[in-house]
Amino acid sequence: MTAQAGGVQLDAHLGRHDVDATDDVADQRLDQTTFTTAQQRGQFSRLVDQRQNVLFVRGRRRCVQQRAGQPRAARPCIYCYTCVSTAYLRQPLRCAVNPDTGFECERSEAAKSLSAPRHVVVIGGGPGGMEAACRLDEAGVKVTLVEAGARLGGTLRFAALAYPPNGDLLDYLTAQIGQSTVDVHCNTPATPDLLRRLAPDAVVVATGARRTMPELPGADLPHVFSGDDLRALMLGNVAGEGARKAGLGTRLAARLGAASGLSANAALIRTATKAWLPLGKRIVILGGELVGVELAEFLAGRGREVTVLEPAPRLGKGLLLVRRMRLLSELKEHGVALQGGVSELAIEPGAVRYKVQDDTVVRVPADHVIVAMGATGDTSLADTLIAQGHRVEVIGDATGVSYIEGAIRGGAEAARRLLGNPPVERAA
Ligand SMILES: Cc1cc2nc3c(=O)[nH]c(=O)nc-3n(C[C@H](O)[C@H](O)[C@H](O)COP(=O)(O)OP(=O)(O)OC[C@H]3O[C@@H](n4cnc5c(N)ncnc54)[C@H](O)[C@@H]3O)c2cc1C
Ligand code: SF4
Repeated sequence: MTAQAGGVQLDAHLGRHDVDATDDVADQRLDQTTFTTAQQRGQFSRLVDQRQNVLFVRGRRRCVQQRAGQPRAARPCIYCYTCVSTAYLRQPLRCAVNPDTGFECERSEAAKSLSAPRHVVVIGGGPGGMEAACRLDEAGVKVTLVEAGARLGGTLRFAALAYPPNGDLLDYLTAQIGQSTVDVHCNTPATPDLLRRLAPDAVVVATGARRTMPELPGADLPHVFSGDDLRALMLGNVAGEGARKAGLGTRLAARLGAASGLSANAALIRTATKAWLPLGKRIVILGGELVGVELAEFLAGRGREVTVLEPAPRLGKGLLLVRRMRLLSELKEHGVALQGGVSELAIEPGAVRYKVQDDTVVRVPADHVIVAMGATGDTSLADTLIAQGHRVEVIGDATGVSYIEGAIRGGAEAARRLLGNPPVERAA
C-alpha cells in the first residue's frame, strides 16, 4: 500500500516499510494534512513542526527492506534523515542504510556473472566490510572476512555509544553475517603475507579511516584524548593509549569490562557511563563535524559542560540537513557551547585557547580535551595488495571519511562490480 500526503509518496521515497502493530504513535504530533494513524500503517509518520516549520519523516523502530528471494530481514532505520534531506537538497532520494532504496529497478538482484570471483577476502568488519561480505555470500561467492579487532563492528561500535540507533544497525549487520556462510576471523590483522597465503580471486579492503592526532600545541598533554583513545577506553581496549592516560581505577574497570565481555554491549556502556565516566566536568571537543557533535551530545547527556570548537565556520559537516538542524538546536538547548570559525587552537593545562574571527583570543576552561578531528582515508594496505597483483576494491572510510552511508553503499557497489554487474547510474 502506498500512503500519500502532500503529494509525497512515502513508499516511493522511503523504500518498503512494514507494519509493526506494537508501535506507539501516540507521542507524535501529527499535522492534519498528514496521515491518520491507520493510514501510516505503523511505519512512518510525517511531522510538521509548527514552530520551526520543519518537515520530518520519522521512521518507525524498524523499517523493513526486503531482498527478493530472501527471508524477511529488518534493516533498522538510524534516524539520520538523509531520505528527508534529499528532498530539500534536490537530490535523488536515497537511504543511508539501504543503498537499494530509490534504485530498486536499477539494482534488481545482482546476478553472478561467469567472470565473478569464486573466493573473495574482505578485510575489515565495519559496516562497509560486513555489507560487502553479505552481498557476495548471498550471490554464492565464498567469502573470508578478516578483522583485526576482537569483534565485528569497526567504528560503528563506537558510533553506537554516541548515538543509540547506530547500535540497532550494528546488531542487524552482525546478525546478517551470523546467518550467512561468511568465514569470519577476528583478531586477524590482514597482511600482504596472509593474503598471499589465502590466494583469493579478489580482495575488498574496508579497513576504515586513519586517525592521527593533529599537530596542535599541547596535544601531548595528559588530559588530551584522541577519539581513538576514548574509544579504546570505553570499549575495553586496555592496551590502548587512552587507557594509559586514564587513572588506575579506570584501567581496572576497562580491564574488567573487556574480560567479562560487558564492554561489548553498547547499551550497557551507555547506561553505565551515566553513573560513572572517567572524564572531568568541563570538556572541550576539538572538531565539530558529525563525530564531534555526537560526542558532545553523549557527554552533555552525562552532565558534562561541553564546548565544541570547529575551525570551519559551520558545524555539523557529515550530517545531512534535517538531522544537522535538529542536533545542533538540541545541543544548544542542552547548553552545549558551539563555536565555529576558530583558529590558532592551542591546548594548555586546564584550558584551550583559540582565536575567533575578529581576532579576539578566548580561553575556555577544560578538565579534559577530546580531539575529534584529523581522520583521513588510508589506502596503504590496498596499494600494497594491488602492487602484489591482487584484484582490489577499496571501500568506506578507507577511501576518505564517508560515514555509515558511504561505507554501506561502497560495500554494495563493490559487490556489484565484483559480480560483474554494471554500475548503477545516479541521476544528478
Ligand atoms: C563517535 C562516532 C560517532 C559516529 N556516528 C556516526 C553516525 O551517527 N552516522 C554515521 O553515518 N557515521 C558515524 N560515525 C562514522 C562511522 O562509524 C564510520 O564512518 C563507519 O563505521 C565507517 O565504516 P567502514 O566500514 O568504512 O570502517 P570502520 O567502521 O572503521 O571499520 C574498519 C574495520 O577494519 C578493521 N581493520 C583495519 N585494518 C585492518 C587490517 N589490516 N586487517 C583486518 N582488519 C582491519 C578495523 O579493526 C575495523 O573494524 C561515527 C564515528 C564515531 C567515531
Ligand atoms: S535515510 Fe536514514 S532516516 Fe531515512 S529511512 Fe534510511 S536510515 Fe532511516
